[in-house]
Amino acid sequence: MRVLPQGVQSTFQFILIAAKRAEQLIAGARPRLVTHTAKPTTTALAEVEQNLVPWHLVTATEFEQLRLLEIAAREREEHTPLFPAPAPIIPPVVEPEIALDEDEELDDDLEETPDLDLDEVDGPPAEALLTEEVCEKCGAPMVKKPDGPGNFIMCSTFPECKYVREIAE
Ligand SMILES: [Zn+2]
Repeated sequence: MRVLPQGVQSTFQFILIAAKRAEQLIAGARPRLVTHTAKPTTTALAEVEQNLVPWHLVTATEFEQLRLLEIAAREREEHTPLFPAPAPIIPPVVEPEIALDEDEELDDDLEETPDLDLDEVDGPPAEALLTEEVCEKCGAPMVKKPDGPGNFIMCSTFPECKYVREIAE
């Protein structure tokens, strides 16, 4: 039979105190003595036995107050991050690397592309000039040629179809 530490009235009380202390150790409290075991219950019993854990009986009102304090403390703990939030990762801005050789090739390609001379493109005019005539070659509607001598209509599918016809008017 254990010798009860000073102030402890019964084995039952002793076990209760040790159990509460074991809860604290499990929750991460620092042990108050070095034991041969890592078992929190064994450590708690040894601590209480050596009067290393201060304790006192509380009234129902005190118990309720302490309970609320504990709940508040746990909530604070849960909302406090263990580690500071990591800094946001900003992706590095990578300048596109264009090799000089590629650059030169690109210039060559551009030079090979023929310049588009808008004056030379004799395309169909706006839809407003659509006529009721139909192309004799492809059946597409004919459009009025905007400028040039004479009164001409041309295929609206130009340059696919280059049919042009003079009209009487
Ligand atoms: Zn046509």
